[in-house]
Amino acid sequence: MARYTDASCKLCRREGMKLFLKGERCYSNKCAIARRPYAPGQHGAQKKKLSEYGVQLREKQKAKRFYGILESQFRKYFEMANRKKGVTGENLLQLLESRLDNVVYRMGFGTTRAEARQLVTHGHFDVNGKRLNIPSYLVKVGDTISVREDSKKSPRFKEILEVTGSKVVPKWLEVDQENLKGKVVALPSREDIDLNVQEHLIVELYSK
Ligand code: SF4
Repeated sequence: MARYTDASCKLCRREGMKLFLKGERCYSNKCAIARRPYAPGQHGAQKKKLSEYGVQLREKQKAKRFYGILESQFRKYFEMANRKKGVTGENLLQLLESRLDNVVYRMGFGTTRAEARQLVTHGHFDVNGKRLNIPSYLVKVGDTISVREDSKKSPRFKEILEVTGSKVVPKWLEVDQENLKGKVVALPSREDIDLNVQEHLIVELYSK
């Protein structure tokens, strides 16, 4: 499966915001955004005025990198969002947020989306009682997501919960940490999604 292989902190520095790609480190004073709050590279510290296209491109890149999605797949989400009723930008974010790997991360069963994706791919989760190893699966209201019985014994989940245990779970999800399971009680609305991006600029970019 294709994925980003660039250094994570460089992506945050390029976008000028925390994308939370490194788990615990993102909340510590080791975070590169706190230490070097300018773009990477020789001329990174120079302020550049972006064109209209440049601004739209940066908004799209933020969303892609936040969810760890590559271009072709991201465009597919845009097309799906465009076909749905409602506001296209909000539909797009709702689709991205509904991915199984993101839901596992939001439930606190992975310290980062990348880790959650790997755990899903390795078959550690059941959805509605059946093993599902597709990170791009879009959850529906009523879906239950649980760590598989065999995997519950793994020390990895204990370590993960030590990091994520105090994390606030969004209100569209319910989590039973003790039994390593959760439920989708609603689909996320825009206000539930903590991504600081101007999604209408992404729509403008793809609508050219
Ligand atoms: Fe981004 Fe900071 Fe986390 Fe690195 S540590 S991935 S710069 S939020």
